[in-house]
Amino acid sequence: MLLDVADFPRLQARLGFEASGVLLRSLSEHLSLALGDRGTVLRFGDASFCVLVRAIRNRGHAILAAERLARAIEQAMADVAIVTAPQINIGIALYPLQATDAQDLLRKAQLAAAAVHVRAARLQVFDDSCAEQVLKGWALGEAFAEALESGELQVFYQPKIRIADGRAVGVEALSRWLRDGKPVATPDVFIPLAEEAGLIRDATWYVLSNSLQQAALWDGLHVAVNITPGMLHHSDFVEMIRSAVSIWSAKSGGLTLEITEGALIADFDQAAARLARVRDLGVRISIDDFGTGYSSLSYFKKIPADELKIDKSFVMGMLTDEANQRLVQTIINLAHQFNLNVVAEGVENQASLDLLARMGCNYAQGYFFAPALNADQLSLWLKRNLA
Ligand code: C2E
Ligand code: CA
Ligand code: CA
Repeated sequence: MLLDVADFPRLQARLGFEASGVLLRSLSEHLSLALGDRGTVLRFGDASFCVLVRAIRNRGHAILAAERLARAIEQAMADVAIVTAPQINIGIALYPLQATDAQDLLRKAQLAAAAVHVRAARLQVFDDSCAEQVLKGWALGEAFAEALESGELQVFYQPKIRIADGRAVGVEALSRWLRDGKPVATPDVFIPLAEEAGLIRDATWYVLSNSLQQAALWDGLHVAVNITPGMLHHSDFVEMIRSAVSIWSAKSGGLTLEITEGALIADFDQAAARLARVRDLGVRISIDDFGTGYSSLSYFKKIPADELKIDKSFVMGMLTDEANQRLVQTIINLAHQFNLNVVAEGVENQASLDLLARMGCNYAQGYFFAPALNADQLSLWLKRNLA
C-alpha cells in the first residue's frame, strides 16, 4: 500500500516544519502499532509511506486492512491536534495477483494512489481503469485551462431572497463549464481540479470580474463569490479582491465572499487577518456550509464574518428529521446572538420556507425560488420578482 498525505507542502507551510515533522513521526508510529507483526512500514518520499502487509487473501481483505490503517492515521492526527485533517490517499496493489516483482508492484500501487486523487476517494485497489483515470484527470486539467480562455466557463446566478418580503437582495455566482450548452463537468469536479492545476486564481478572477460587471446592471443587488481554501491562502488574495473592487467600483456591501469553515481553520490566524483586510474594503464575509466543518466555537467567535449560510443538508432534512430542525434553529439563534445575517440554502418547497420564517431566518436560497440561471434568464426572473 502506498499512503500519502495529500497536499503535504501546503500543510507544511501552514503548520511549520516542526509540527509537520511531529505529524509524520506520529503517523509512522501509529501505522506500525496498527500493523503489529502483520507488516512493515517504510518512509517513502517526503510525505508517503510504503506499507507491506502480509497474508492478504484478496481485494476485500486488502480494503479492510487499508481502512484499519486509515483509522490509525486519523487517530494520529487527532493526537497532534490538527483541526482539519488532511486527506490521505491509499493506493493498493496485490502480490502476487497483480504483480510478481517489486518494481511492478510499486508502480501499480502508485497508479492506484494517483487514481484516488483524481476520484477524490480515499482508497483504491489497482485495476486496469486506474491508468486511464489518471490520464483523464490530467487531460481534464488541461481542458479547463482552455475553457477559461475560450469562454466555456460561464457564470450563473442564483437569487438570494429576503424572507420577510420575498424580494431578491443578491445573487450567488456559481460557475458552469458548458460546451455546446451541455455541462463538461460539475463544479464539484472542476473547482478542485482548478486548485490542483494552479488555476484557481485565474478561475476566481474570471468569476469576480464577470459577476461584478454583471451585478452593476442589476441595480442594488449584491453578488456573492465562492472562495476556495487555496484562493484564500494564495499570496495574491487580498490584492486581487482590492483590484476587483476598485476596477468594477463595487459599492460597500456590494461584494460578499463565501468561505467554508474548513478554509478558515487550516491556518486560522492568516485567514482571519486576510478576511479582516478585505472587510476593510467594504467586502462582506459569509461562512458557507456552516455546521459541516470541524471548527470549534472558540474559533467561531473570532471569525470576522457578516453572515452564516446554513448548509443545505440540514435545511433539506429538517422537515423529516427533528434533529436537523433543532440544528437549523440553533444555527439561526447563534447567528443572531453574534449579530450575523443568516441564510438558509437548499430551500426546495413552501413548507421549508414557512418553517424558516417561523424560526426567524432572514434569507433563503434554493430551487423553490430559482436554480442558478444565466445572466439573461436571471434578468427575466428579477422582473417577475419585482412585479
Ligand atoms: P455551494 O457554494 O454550497 O453552492 C450551493 C450549491 O447548491 C450549488 O451547486 C447550487 O446549484 C446548489 N443548490 C442551490 N439551491 C439548491 C436546492 O434548493 N437544492 C439542492 N439540492 N441544491 C441546491 P453547484 O452550482 O453545483 O456548486 C457546487 C459547489 O461548487 C458550490 O457549493 C461551491 O462550493 C462550488 N462552486 C461553484 N461555483 C464556484 C466558483 O465559481 N468558485 C468556487 N470557488 N466554487 C464554486
Ligand atoms: Ca456558496
Ligand atoms: Ca453551501
